[in-house]
Amino acid sequence: MKDDVLDAVAAVGASGRYILGDHVAELEAALAARLGAGQAVGVGSGLDALEIALRCLDVEPGERVLTTPLSAFATTLALVRLGAIPVFADVDGAGLLDLDECRRFLRQSRGVRGLLPVHLYGHALDLDALAGLREEFGLWIVEDCAQAVGATWRGRPVGTVAEVAATSFYPTKNLGALGDGGAVLTGSPAHAERARRLRNYGQEETYCHVEVGLNSRLDELHAAVLHRALLPRLAGLTARRREIAARYCAEIRCRELRLPRPGPGSDSVWHLFPVLVKPGMRDAFVRHLRERGVETGAHYPTLISEQPALLRYGTFEVTSDLPRAHDFAANEVSLPVHPFLAEEELEHVIAACNDWRPR
Ligand SMILES: *Cc1c(COP(=O)(O)O)cnc(C)c1O
Repeated sequence: MKDDVLDAVAAVGASGRYILGDHVAELEAALAARLGAGQAVGVGSGLDALEIALRCLDVEPGERVLTTPLSAFATTLALVRLGAIPVFADVDGAGLLDLDECRRFLRQSRGVRGLLPVHLYGHALDLDALAGLREEFGLWIVEDCAQAVGATWRGRPVGTVAEVAATSFYPTKNLGALGDGGAVLTGSPAHAERARRLRNYGQEETYCHVEVGLNSRLDELHAAVLHRALLPRLAGLTARRREIAARYCAEIRCRELRLPRPGPGSDSVWHLFPVLVKPGMRDAFVRHLRERGVETGAHYPTLISEQPALLRYGTFEVTSDLPRAHDFAANEVSLPVHPFLAEEELEHVIAACNDWRPR
């Protein structure tokens, strides 16, 4: 994609405009169309997209918000930056926020008005269940789509149940820039307008600041590269991720590994490919793969509810002991699933997994 990237850089240079010009506007329009969102607003990062999404909904200090303890720390950090109170519910068998547990909790506990779920690993949460929770309890929802651009639940794109959703262009994400970036997604013109204001110092028109905003603008350079080089390739890159994931699902037969599957309605974009090892075996499995030249990740080894920064912040709740989230934190290993994995590399990873005989 080098030539397309360099063309994009040349176009921005020639335009003489580096912040909030035509390239950001063009990317926003293309992204909204591609993701089935009414509008997209380019911002500085995925974390900022989450914070701005929450601020569009006027989330206040002290407000309790149900969310997942198994995610990038940024999910909760956005709540913490607003002084909200994260309420952590357990995850389901696929590692995503357990919406049944959320429903049980909401039925017996008053005072939670919001939900911040994450389409983790690129899997879509059950959007019908999400919409059902919103109806039953009158919740607001912000969906964290940072790992799931393009994922759908029974054909419906992620990010379309929430009033406002957020995604990230961090370089390793499925739609990654050459630096930091993110986007707010919303079907509401009013929320989109508010997000545009918040990203630009709370400025309504030049030098007129109607609220306390941020400096969180997506750069023209990143927007042009995303629009010209990455977005046109997203479908192909996603198809390759799905192909690799399908091969892992069909061909990894080692009985010592569990392959958590997304829900049946989820057409995942496989940002990550998680497997679970037996308790106490993760280090040995990671070593086994590393000795065969296979690099792995862990998503995520420490639950957000146990991070030092959150313990210091102090104000959070848990709905249970979070046993399944702890299972993932202790035993999950992420296999390579990026779209540039070569055929022989893919076969090598499968063979290395099937060779795993823990003692
Ligand atoms: C990457 C990520 C974020 C944060 O995005 P940044 O662009 O790194 O700020 C938030 N949530 C999830 C689930 C992520 O994977």
